Amino acid sequence: MLRIALIAHDGKKAEMVSFVLQNKQLLSSVQLYATGTTGSHIETAGFSVVKLLSGPKGGDAQIGAMVSTGELDAVFFFRDPLGKHPHEPDVQMLMRLCDVYNVPLATNPAAGKYLLEGMVL
Ligand code: PGA
Repeated sequence: MLRIALIAHDGKKAEMVSFVLQNKQLLSSVQLYATGTTGSHIETAGFSVVKLLSGPKGGDAQIGAMVSTGELDAVFFFRDPLGKHPHEPDVQMLMRLCDVYNVPLATNPAAGKYLLEGMVL
């Protein structure tokens, strides 16, 4: 089973929810992980998801660790490029680890659509 992590900054959470709803069928065969608040939104949308810590409290770091230990097949991280984030170092760390371990990373819904279709179809 494919394992995918979902993270959305606050300004992008609505886009993440509409992304998962639009791709419900493709995601039905995927094990979902998410940072805490993103995960709660995804749960409310009707999905089953393993929730980690909230991003600013270490959730991004947890996902980075999972990337490093081979526990994730892709990361969907919808970043808000217009916002300031107290956990920016963790954001950079997570993106760096995706590159270190060659784990695909989609940072916006358009890239996410192609990545998901490429992985599942
Ligand atoms: P959150 O974390 O899902 O707990 O809001 C996301 C983030 O800002 O990294």
